Amino acid sequence: MDYIVRATAAGGQIRAFAANTHDMVARARQIHDTTPVASAALGRLMTAGAMMGIMMKGDRDLLSLTVKGDGPIGGLTVTADSHGNVKGFPYNPNVPVLISKKHKLDVGAALGNGTLTVVKDLGLKEPYSGQVDLQSGEIGDDLAYYFMTSEQIPSSVGVGVLVDTDDTILQAGGFIIQLMPDASEEVISQLEQNLTGVDSVTVMLSQGMTPEQILERLLGNLELEINEKIPTQFQCNCSRERVTKALISLGQKELQSLVGEGKPVTLHCDFCRTDYTFEVDEISTLLQRA
Ligand SMILES: [Zn+2]
Repeated sequence: MDYIVRATAAGGQIRAFAANTHDMVARARQIHDTTPVASAALGRLMTAGAMMGIMMKGDRDLLSLTVKGDGPIGGLTVTADSHGNVKGFPYNPNVPVLISKKHKLDVGAALGNGTLTVVKDLGLKEPYSGQVDLQSGEIGDDLAYYFMTSEQIPSSVGVGVLVDTDDTILQAGGFIIQLMPDASEEVISQLEQNLTGVDSVTVMLSQGMTPEQILERLLGNLELEINEKIPTQFQCNCSRERVTKALISLGQKELQSLVGEGKPVTLHCDFCRTDYTFEVDEISTLLQRA
């Protein structure tokens, strides 16, 4: 089962998260029928979204991560709540395999040049929003750059997805390590040393390492303390009831014109690809409720 661990190190000068997201990413691949490079791109962003979601404190807080690029995927949208529920979709799931010079899936080329936008709805009047240009398009680098420039938090972000030759997801997971404002020079330089030349997330996961063991590898000599273990999963919260409410909220005029067209109306959820079809007489009934 997928889970995220939340941890601190160096007496609170560092906070850290690590996650195994294999099942979540495998579910996303199944729903969206993604090719390997699209699976990797979406899986990396969903993995980061899962960890960033649980950084939020409010019960009903919502995070959304949007990448838009001029590469063949076009973009990605991921949303996460503060309880480990994550959903996402690629704009184009059917991207031919791109392999980088390092013989890896070339997520950067598949996304191209563009932007990463982070929106956090924390229940305040206005949602928090930050946007950065994509650095490499490899997701991990882009998020580290976002944390540094928009939130002023020096961070190391590693996210990875390993896809088999038959397109199945072999491994998926990641970590986020952040320096708190009171971090001492000593702690900073020890962390830099620890992160230098460290294996990629997919290598560590392939060695059978758990999220706890990944953090132990990265922060073991910095008084690592694991604080919490939180299950995480792909979950879409759409339902016929919610879609019905959305239809009613269109208002009488709009519904009247839908009834006038005399055809069933189908609404589509991009996150889980569920279609909700409403027959003309159902729309007429909704019209009376609007
Ligand atoms: Zn849905």
